[in-house]
Amino acid sequence: MTYRRLISVPAAACALILSVSLMGGTVSFAETGNEGLRDSSFGVIKDHFDWTVDGVLTRGIVSLRDFDWAEELEWVRDFEYESLLNTKEGNISYVPRYTPEMKSAHVQSLRDLPWVAPSKQADENMVLGQTPGWPDDEDLPTWPYEYYESPAVPPQNIHGFTITDPEAEDDEKLQVVLVAGNHSSEMHGCWALHGMIEFLVSEDPRAETLRRKAAFHVYPLACPESRYIHTRIPTIPTLAGLPIPEGRVAEAYPLRGGPELYAYYDSLEHWSDTGAMGGRPDHNRVWDTEGLFTTIDTLVPAMKADTGGEADYLWDFHGGYPHDPGDYRGTEEAMQSPYAQALEARDAPYPEVLRRTQGGASGMTRMWATSEDGLNAHAFTFEPGQQLTKKQALVAGKNLALGFHDIVTE
Ligand SMILES: [Zn+2]
Repeated sequence: MTYRRLISVPAAACALILSVSLMGGTVSFAETGNEGLRDSSFGVIKDHFDWTVDGVLTRGIVSLRDFDWAEELEWVRDFEYESLLNTKEGNISYVPRYTPEMKSAHVQSLRDLPWVAPSKQADENMVLGQTPGWPDDEDLPTWPYEYYESPAVPPQNIHGFTITDPEAEDDEKLQVVLVAGNHSSEMHGCWALHGMIEFLVSEDPRAETLRRKAAFHVYPLACPESRYIHTRIPTIPTLAGLPIPEGRVAEAYPLRGGPELYAYYDSLEHWSDTGAMGGRPDHNRVWDTEGLFTTIDTLVPAMKADTGGEADYLWDFHGGYPHDPGDYRGTEEAMQSPYAQALEARDAPYPEVLRRTQGGASGMTRMWATSEDGLNAHAFTFEPGQQLTKKQALVAGKNLALGFHDIVTE
């Protein structure tokens, strides 16, 4: 496709990145004992090897059912993908990157299941619309790196679909919205959503009950262009700590938004004057905007159409930062909701998770969804901790689904 070339990193840049990571006390893959590593070093590599300068195998075609834990997770269907690990210079994402191509492939794999249907505003391929992309002959706005060439970005699909049993007609079905991928580098949340979806479409009797009593409206990648950029730069770390030229965006690119956001913010004279948007190009601060960004203008109407304008619950999947052991957050009301109580009662999504009562900026997915202008929902942000392996993230997603089972069957 159209990313220009895998940028070769000069030796000086490697040394710089390595020293940054040492200063930051980054742990290496070997030290984490993390299953993310198995994806490359111990998993079944089918094709396509790629080693980084420091000897970490970062690429390989793998299948989920080939992992040695697959027997324990019988509800996870096979899924073949190109495993891309961050190198150990990165502070986050010890699980494989979840690319836009993987999102599309996963959506395709769901298409013919009888309980999966396109979003009301989506086409038969469950595509709601496309992002504008960014041309080859123009640098990305505010691109701050000397060592990484600014890539072209092809238009990306914005997906939307609903999981529910169409034969169980019930006006009272629980309406649940699931969204992931506000932030480009936060892969753990995408693996958790993958696990939740796999469980919801499975033959487990609890999943069957859930499909009869609830409708899950899924928007698996909210900001696909930033994920596209992030997953194409082989050694992009958190970027925090890399030198950013004077006068450029203080926030690391492209962690928190795509080209549309950066172009918009770059056009403003004073970044900090943007008030409710948080004063920075962050896709999780713009959900209360209208007419500015393709993703928001596509997803917000889709969510309203799918839910009839009101949802019971919403999950926004993030995570993978080293603020162990990870947490989920919601307003006081959300944290007292029957669902939050059910999660607490079953120690879900995993026993160590922190439960935080937290408001936030009005443009956050969670706060927008809570508001009456949004979806009037109990909304939560899930920030699974960096220490979770891919398997644990998948199980966390299943456990989030089981919490809904508790409240629809009580
Ligand atoms: Zn995030």
